[in-house]
Parts: sequence; C-alpha cells; structure tokens
Amino acid sequence: MPALAGNGWMICGDAAQMVNAVNGEGTNLAILSGRLAGETAILAHARGDYSLGMLEHYNEGIRASIIYKDLKKYSGIHGLLSGPERRVLFGKLPGVLNEAVSQYMSVDGTPKRDKQKQLIKQVRDAAGGNVELLRLGLKGWRAINR
Ligand SMILES: Cc1cc2nc3c(=O)[nH]c(=O)nc-3n(C[C@H](O)[C@H](O)[C@H](O)COP(=O)(O)OP(=O)(O)OC[C@H]3O[C@@H](n4cnc5c(N)ncnc54)[C@H](O)[C@@H]3O)c2cc1C
Repeated sequence: MPALAGNGWMICGDAAQMVNAVNGEGTNLAILSGRLAGETAILAHARGDYSLGMLEHYNEGIRASIIYKDLKKYSGIHGLLSGPERRVLFGKLPGVLNEAVSQYMSVDGTPKRDKQKQLIKQVRDAAGGNVELLRLGLKGWRAINR
C-alpha cells in the first residue's frame, strides 16, 4: 500500500490499492477504509487540525483492521504473478487446465479414474514435472500466507 495520509489528505479504497485480487474483494475494504477515514476527518474537524500528525489516527485504524492484516497475508501474490512463474501460470497452465477439465467432463466411455490420471499428467507436464509442480504449489502457498 502507498502512504495513506499526509498533511490535509487521506486516501482509501481502490485509490489506496486496497484490493484483494485473490479473493475478489475490494468493496468491503473500500467501505471500511472510508469509514475509518470519515471517523478521522470528524476528529480532525473537531480539533481544527488536518496535519499528518492528526491524520496518523487513520493509519493506525487501518493497521489495526482486517485491511492491513489481509493485504499483508496476500502481499506475496504480486511477486509470484510478475515473476518467472508467470510463464506457466498465464501461459501453458490455463490452456492445459481448460482442455483437461473439458476432457474430464466429457462422456466418451473412458472411466473417470483414467481421466483423472490423464488430467494430473497434463497439469504436471504443463508445470514441467513433479518437482516443478510442487515448487510452484509451495511458492503459491507462501505468496498467499505472508
Ligand atoms: C469487474 C470487477 C468486479 C469486481 N467484483 C468485486 C466483487 O465481487 N466483490 C468486491 O468486493 N469487489 C469487487 N470489485 C472491486 C470493487 O468494485 C472495488 O474495489 C470498489 O468499487 C472500490 O471502491 P472505491 O470507492 O475505492 O472506488 P470506485 O468504486 O472506483 O469509486 C471511485 C469513484 O470516484 C469517481 N471519480 C474518479 N475520479 C474522480 C474525480 N476526479 N472527481 C470526482 N469523482 C471521481 C469515479 O467515477 C467513481 O465513481 C470488482 C471490480 C471490478 C472492476
């Protein structure tokens, strides 16, 4: 997240990068941060003080809220999606998964157990083998559990 307040200003919601793309959340973070900013604005108005020192109250509210805790938890996702793994995550994997699930859901006389094995093989091959798939899974887990 960028700086959330300065002398005479506060930002919240999308403008403050309060978006959790993993869970598809943003509205709740915008509403909560807007409320915290509003509460700070009321305090600042009552004291006639709009300096950063006063508006730190908003920063403290954000840090104590689920906004900071949740966005910190998922803070590794940007690095994962823009790192070398993006070639597999946005390249081979979606196409292979699409094809594999399509084959799995088709009724063509092949037993589901065989289809399941085929699906796992296709995903494993797309990731570059068992070790690479495990490494990718581990990186993904770490990226969403900071
Ligand atoms: C396709 C899509 C699906 C989404 N699905 C979900 C979901 O399922 N659940 C969820 O929680 N979140 C979802 N989000 C995210 C969510 O919509 C945002 O996180 C949320 O709307 C952010 O609220 P906000 O008030 O910060 O910003 P915004 O909703 O973008 O509001 C900003 C407002 O400021 C106005 N504005 C901009 N510039 C100026 C200006 N200079 N002067 C005056 N007004 C201005 C804009 O017109 C806009 O109305 C989704 C987003 C998208 C794009």
